[in-house]
Amino acid sequence: MSSKPKFLLSDNLNKLAKWLRALGYDSLVGQSISLHNLRRIGYRDRRIILTRSRKVARSPHHFPRRLIRSEDSWQQLQEIKDLLEYDEKSIFSRCLECNRVLVPIEKEQIKNLVPSFVFQTQNSFSYCKKCGKIFWKGSHYKDMKKKLDKIFGNRG
Ligand SMILES: [Zn+2]
Repeated sequence: MSSKPKFLLSDNLNKLAKWLRALGYDSLVGQSISLHNLRRIGYRDRRIILTRSRKVARSPHHFPRRLIRSEDSWQQLQEIKDLLEYDEKSIFSRCLECNRVLVPIEKEQIKNLVPSFVFQTQNSFSYCKKCGKIFWKGSHYKDMKKKLDKIFGNRG
């Protein structure tokens, strides 16, 4: 029914963008982008603007935005919890660095690209076509997921 919101974050919200990507949300970071362009891209791509700038938040123009108050990315995520849904299937479906949707890759193909203990203990891998980074559900994934479970009250 309702499609997932997409976000456009100001460049001091880089860490928050990573959390949103970890949850599977399309989240772009605007590098020193003007208010005019924030609005323009927001409209064009139907993105919700997340900003720490009161100037942007108070702009009289009508566009979807949210003022982020905390300086801590973890608290920032909780500030916008009401906009988010925890969807197990979407978790870690995007590259944390470039926002690109990850694609699955055969284990044999990455044999020499990951540490051997990872190769021995993991079975499913995905990778980012943009930066080439390979992802698997190892300890980093488990740590992040544990934190996300805490926010969203998931006891799975
Ligand atoms: Zn990437």
